[in-house]
Amino acid sequence: MAIYDQKQQAIAEKIDPETILMNWRDWKWQLQHVVQDIDTFERLLEIRLEDSEKQKLEETLARFPLSITPYYLSLIDAKDYQNDPIYKQAFPSVSELHVGEFEMRDPLHEEQDSPVPGITHRYPDRVLFQVCGMCSMYCRHCTRKRKVGDEGAAPSREQLQGGIEYIKRTPSIRDVLLSGGDPFLLSDQVLDWILSEVRRIPHVEVIRIGTRTPVVLPYRITDELLMVLKKYYPLWINTHFNHPREITESAKLALAKMADAGIPLGNQSVLLAGINDSPVIMKKLVHKLVQNRVRPYYLYQCDLSEGLEHFRTPVGKGIEIMENLIGHTSGFAVPTYVIDAPGGGGKIRVLPNYLVSWSTDKVVLRNYEGVITTYQEPQTYESIYKGSGKNQEIGDKLEEAQEYKAIGIAKLLSDLDATISLIPENTERMTRSHE
Ligand SMILES: *Cc1c(COP(=O)(O)O)cnc(C)c1O
Ligand code: SF4
Repeated sequence: MAIYDQKQQAIAEKIDPETILMNWRDWKWQLQHVVQDIDTFERLLEIRLEDSEKQKLEETLARFPLSITPYYLSLIDAKDYQNDPIYKQAFPSVSELHVGEFEMRDPLHEEQDSPVPGITHRYPDRVLFQVCGMCSMYCRHCTRKRKVGDEGAAPSREQLQGGIEYIKRTPSIRDVLLSGGDPFLLSDQVLDWILSEVRRIPHVEVIRIGTRTPVVLPYRITDELLMVLKKYYPLWINTHFNHPREITESAKLALAKMADAGIPLGNQSVLLAGINDSPVIMKKLVHKLVQNRVRPYYLYQCDLSEGLEHFRTPVGKGIEIMENLIGHTSGFAVPTYVIDAPGGGGKIRVLPNYLVSWSTDKVVLRNYEGVITTYQEPQTYESIYKGSGKNQEIGDKLEEAQEYKAIGIAKLLSDLDATISLIPENTERMTRSHE
């Protein structure tokens, strides 16, 4: 019986000659048979690696484990595997042992910006909550490589409880992002428990889940899982497709199930050298995503995590890709290109320049074709919304008027805040004045 295609059939038979379609599409069967060593990898794909290379790869595996679902493995083109975008994301490379001069263990300071274990609270109104330490496939480019797949990094029930308590006692949090690892590797029951606890917190408006299962384990999206998720709307899901080849019939089915269940879907891609660092590939990817009701959300510049240098591209490559998307294709198919600031500054968007110049009454802009145009500013304009004080005087017409406290650059722009500059603590000038 054909499992899905001949390649999957051949792999399934090598894993277990008794495998039937139902097993292959059972996410637990897939997890029981994840490929975790090089010999099995070679056997299933019928490829042979050099012995000397294998030895070096073992060293890589001792630091960063290997795990590939049979499904994701079946997407590799064994005939040209060295150039294959699936292979490069899934199979270790000796380059991972090379730590570049500027690379760090935790470049995003996720551990420093953590008020309680498992929570990263970086932005005013939202938190990242790491609820699971495992992934079904260990992406070689993972920014949390230091942790993912490390058995000891799986959060305990107490740690999860601690995270929930932190969200409960922090009323400014209106958006909770469940991440990991991959939250969908938790059982339906545990996920149900976490979601119900978070949903019960009155100030939490939205819950988001980041998962790569639609890409590497699409069979995880079961009717039972959807029954759980449906109880906790509004719930947004972001997934992680990096290459159009990952959008297979199985992946499409998983996406359709979630979209049909009313879950808004987004996608976060990482810009990866030799995998998707081309305007043509990225355009194809975003088109396939929107065809499957997934909105491209972020395109990430690859982080400065240790051992990722071979995946990194210059920022210019990302800008070139954005130049090839903006205006050239549907606005909602264009992701936001971001660099996650080393040191914990958060995501910073990067764009080609469209504002060419301006004067007091005109701005000069350019479009994607290179047309240069002007926009005439209004002759008279008075801003009546100036911040909290004025808003309250005129009644801000919001249902639930809230004190608005500007921070950051917004504070410099506010007419109601006397701050005229933001100055780093440790400038030479500051040090001198304290002497
Ligand atoms: C990415 C991220 C978020 C969510 O950021 P959005 O821009 O709202 O998607 C929240 N917290 C942390 C620590 C993050 O890294
Ligand atoms: S799915 Fe995400 S967390 Fe898991 S290995 Fe891949 S990038 Fe890392």
